[in-house]
Amino acid sequence: MKPIEEFSISIAEIGDGELLVERPIRPAWAAEALDEVELAVEAGAHLAVRCYRTGGDVVVRGRIEGVGKAECGRCLGEAHVDLGTDIHVLFSANAQRANGDDVSDLEGDGEMDILPHDGVVLDLAGVVREQLILAIPMRPLCREDCKGLCDQCGHDLNQGPCAHQAEPKPDPRLAKLVSLRGKPSA
Ligand SMILES: [Zn+2]
Ligand SMILES: [Zn+2]
Repeated sequence: MKPIEEFSISIAEIGDGELLVERPIRPAWAAEALDEVELAVEAGAHLAVRCYRTGGDVVVRGRIEGVGKAECGRCLGEAHVDLGTDIHVLFSANAQRANGDDVSDLEGDGEMDILPHDGVVLDLAGVVREQLILAIPMRPLCREDCKGLCDQCGHDLNQGPCAHQAEPKPDPRLAKLVSLRGKPSA
């Protein structure tokens, strides 16, 4: 993950209480981090989490808020994607332990990610990236009733019907007649 500072939190800063951390999710960062998926993050997206220590571990809870743009699955136009999603991560002091039984009872709701930390910083970049990718619907739509494109000429049917949609399927006998009529008479 590229710029590690982007979403890193110093553990020393958390202290004994709760630390509120707010970071913008820059469109340029997202463009780099999400280069494998069709999602552009619009300006104004941000991460807001509360961090607190529990023993050698750190709990990070909060949300991502923002709007993204993806390609409409029907007309290839612009589909707006709500990026709002919850973040819930336990950074464990010991990666080994994270895979063992000790922390399993902390996974009460089964929705908490468990990641290692190095005792100095928490890196949330991977979590942010993952949550943004999960926010993309299977088939983004520019609008619920998007009519898509004509499968014959590619016309955007949201802008009205094309010749292929307006006409019924041509009768093959009629087509033959038309081609006969088109020929020069002998
Ligand atoms: Zn569409
Ligand atoms: Zn058409």
